[in-house]
Amino acid sequence: MAEAVGASRGPAAGRPSEPVTVVGGGLAGCEAALQLAHRGREVRLVEMRPVQGTPAHQTEGLGELVCTNSFKSEDTSNAHGALKVEMELLGSVLLASARVARVPAGAALAVDRAIFSRAMTEAVETHPRIQVVREEVTRLPDGPAVIATGPLTSDALSTSIREALGGEGLAFFDAIAPIVERESLDESVVFAQGRWGQDADYLNCPMSEEEYDGFIDALASADVHQSHYDWDAVPYFEGCLPIEVMVARGRETLRFGPMKPIGLQDPRTGERPHAVVQLRREDRAGQMWNLVGFQTRLRIGEQKRVFRMIPGLADAEFLRFGSIHRNSYLNFPAHLTAHGSLRDRPDLIFAGQLTGVEGYTESAASGILAGLNLHRILDGLDPVLPPPTTMLGALYRYMREADPEHFQPMNSNWGLVDPLQKRIRNKREKRERLGERAGRDFRAWMEREGVTGRVGASEPGEPGAPWSGAGGAAAPSPRGDQEPEHPHAPAPVPTAP
Ligand SMILES: Cc1cc2nc3c(=O)[nH]c(=O)nc-3n(C[C@H](O)[C@H](O)[C@H](O)COP(=O)(O)OP(=O)(O)OC[C@H]3O[C@@H](n4cnc5c(N)ncnc54)[C@H](O)[C@@H]3O)c2cc1C
Repeated sequence: MAEAVGASRGPAAGRPSEPVTVVGGGLAGCEAALQLAHRGREVRLVEMRPVQGTPAHQTEGLGELVCTNSFKSEDTSNAHGALKVEMELLGSVLLASARVARVPAGAALAVDRAIFSRAMTEAVETHPRIQVVREEVTRLPDGPAVIATGPLTSDALSTSIREALGGEGLAFFDAIAPIVERESLDESVVFAQGRWGQDADYLNCPMSEEEYDGFIDALASADVHQSHYDWDAVPYFEGCLPIEVMVARGRETLRFGPMKPIGLQDPRTGERPHAVVQLRREDRAGQMWNLVGFQTRLRIGEQKRVFRMIPGLADAEFLRFGSIHRNSYLNFPAHLTAHGSLRDRPDLIFAGQLTGVEGYTESAASGILAGLNLHRILDGLDPVLPPPTTMLGALYRYMREADPEHFQPMNSNWGLVDPLQKRIRNKREKRERLGERAGRDFRAWMEREGVTGRVGASEPGEPGAPWSGAGGAAAPSPRGDQEPEHPHAPAPVPTAP
């Protein structure tokens, strides 16, 4: 049986000749369209550029990369590398195009963005079962569809989505706090306690007056990520100001805000600390902990430097960095089914960044799954999701099980997947095992569910085949631990000497 998808049987067997709609010709939309087309569906892909632009896209090409040209690591012991293995098994057009457009970038998979977008466009436009239409979609389609309009979904469609969700559930920007790995915390400093003796659901990092002063000085002088996009000039809500903005308002602002120590007692001293940084659990297994109220636009290097000054976090491993930027995304756990559709429309599936996954490859991978599942639903089959020991399965588990009150977009990271049954202390070895298990379990899941991979085309080179012209998969590079350029990216994986 599929991983916790629930009984969301779709309409009776769809007729392959009836076109299905894919809205958005970005990374997720291209993947979804090709999955559907390769599986025999007629597809109408609707992309609004160049008729209407977005604040970030600059061309009319499909699959345009709006920022960095890197898809990060191909090392399978890296969470991003593991996701690529899974995407490859399902026949990703992003990976095939990336290999055509590859530029040297050490161990990372980086591309010439113009060649990449051309390859994506060609793969879609030359497919005989895909019709590309250039117009803005202003309301949710009535028929079967994948909605992959991304973080910069047009206003009219955003309004239609909000209406379908009962007027809520669509956020317009991220205010993201960093997440650290539990195993990397100094347990002799950090203590579990709730305020005023409430349930000990939080971990607390206590600070003396001297430590607080040093921390505020470091924060006040740290470098902030500079952006050239207009959408970054968002008016902040008072409730989620970036910490650097709070510090600029006064040295004590944080101590009366997210770092307030009231109701807490440090078990080592029996006293109330001068200030406290609280960590809130992100996942059921307790592997991922969020720095409460620490949404920030500090540069990634600065986040590492300054946040490791927090007592108990000196060796913190960051699973996600803080960031704030324009980003439309749905409150997946509150409003969508496990496979990402509206609750009363199993054949209207959201994909890409709009669902609350974060990042190029994550968006593309969710497009693959959306295309695959829409095809299954139209065939009268249940949708399927990979198990949570795989990266894609773990991402979907996060989205359906996250706390709807605090739901924030998520990138691939090892904190999302089930822990290994046997604890391994060596980090490099642990991640290698996690990577091996993810690949193995993904293959087993495909076989169990009868999910075919490079679908529809029997020979490489068929027009529109995901790998056409790609020359096959490149061997994974040994390491891909470069400084991430996107603020939501996970930290590089340290390797053993
Ligand atoms: C400015 C910016 C920079 C980013 N930088 C990075 C980065 O460096 N690294 C990273 O991993 N992730 C980055 N992301 C996050 C994310 O990975 C990318 O946005 C990614 O492109 C998302 O893929 P997608 O397919 O969901 O959306 P997109 O790739 O944005 O595709 C959506 C498509 O839908 C179209 N569209 C929108 N509304 C409509 C409509 N109503 N009708 C028809 N078409 C419509 C758009 O024109 C677009 O082509 C960034 C996001 C933004 C906004």
